[in-house]
Amino acid sequence: MIRHFASLVTLTLGVALPSSMDGQAPAQQPTRTLVIRAAHMIDGHSDAVQDNVAVVIEGERIKAVGSQSQLASQIPAGAQVVDLGGATILPGLIDNHTHVLLQGDITAADYDDQLLKESIPYRAIRATAAVRNSLMNGFTAIRDLETEGAMYADVDVKTAIARGVIPGPRMFVSTRALSTTGTYPLLGYSWELRMPEGVQIVDGPEDVRKAVREEVKYGADWIKFYADRRYFVGADGRLRSWLNFTDEELKMLVSEAHRLGKKVAAHAIGWDGIDAALRAGVNTIEHGDGLTDDLLDRMVAQKVYWCPTIYVGVYVAPGRGGVWPKMVEMERVAFGKALKKGVMISYGTDAGGYSWSENQAQEFAYMVRYGMSPMAAIKSATLVAAQLLDQSDNFGTIEAGKLADIIAVKGNPIADISELTRVSFVMKGGVVYKQ
Ligand SMILES: [Zn+2]
Repeated sequence: MIRHFASLVTLTLGVALPSSMDGQAPAQQPTRTLVIRAAHMIDGHSDAVQDNVAVVIEGERIKAVGSQSQLASQIPAGAQVVDLGGATILPGLIDNHTHVLLQGDITAADYDDQLLKESIPYRAIRATAAVRNSLMNGFTAIRDLETEGAMYADVDVKTAIARGVIPGPRMFVSTRALSTTGTYPLLGYSWELRMPEGVQIVDGPEDVRKAVREEVKYGADWIKFYADRRYFVGADGRLRSWLNFTDEELKMLVSEAHRLGKKVAAHAIGWDGIDAALRAGVNTIEHGDGLTDDLLDRMVAQKVYWCPTIYVGVYVAPGRGGVWPKMVEMERVAFGKALKKGVMISYGTDAGGYSWSENQAQEFAYMVRYGMSPMAAIKSATLVAAQLLDQSDNFGTIEAGKLADIIAVKGNPIADISELTRVSFVMKGGVVYKQ
């Protein structure tokens, strides 16, 4: 990875890009040592903010972390020093719910227009701008949860980033989400027209098995499906929903994905959808507005993560109307309960469900407003998010041995969590992208 970036040019936007943009890897360079100095550090692991720190980076990984005085003797002569002054450094942020191939879909028309009027190559070009924004805002890893009709283009965006063709976060992709006939857009058009599908349509367990195998074949790291739709408040006061799959289909989906070593993310908003997803044995619940005490207890017992995606709900609710504003309020209550019960909450924004010109870090303010401590909110986007991805050995904390995915903010994010929307320094794998 590092050798693709051996020589960097800084563009007028202040963004570092590889000088070799033609996909040709430059000749092997000797491993370089770089040292970051900063007044403060949140390392993703400790609950304390540490002062006057130094991070020694060799190639793409962290070699040592400690106080500047402790590490002085370990810094080789000629090492490049990045002095961030009074800044606070943190592990690179992780967003576990994005759609890089979508550019906002408040209304059905917003969504349909993208699938009907934009080619997949054009959508992939827009995705390259989305991932660049994401990285510049401090997100060094994302889990992209389905392409919304853009087939396997997420695999291509991931590959382009990994090969150094374009700047972007490390990507974990789910290719095409699964749903059943008649349950997912595009819907409502004349039966005489064959419309594009926003998902891979599967009916019956054998269809499900084949689709999971196909997605893994083409590069899916995760399997995503839509558990429910048509949300409404039931007579019991719960947020209810209609199920998209039979139990038989979901059992096949989860068992086949797990057999192939892939985990499963369930879009599940109403009580019924979350219940079905948990019965099937999924690994993460996405959105989860209708979570109640009983479901939250089951999530703790089954070690299932929750990506609440609060901000997108707030963003789309006024435009969608109906039950959506009520869902925002129900999710706020569920979030408070989940904190008390110790549910594993991972940072996830649904960016792409709203415009990529918005900063994904706006989610933090909602988590804190809903009762999470700023330090816990930061961990949800670093330590905990990396655990969800099974990547704790690689990133999520600033520790020796981990990849050097490090960001910095000028102010104190513990005092004001919105500091995270003003990231001033971004390093991924030892390469500086923003300074
Ligand atoms: Zn989503």
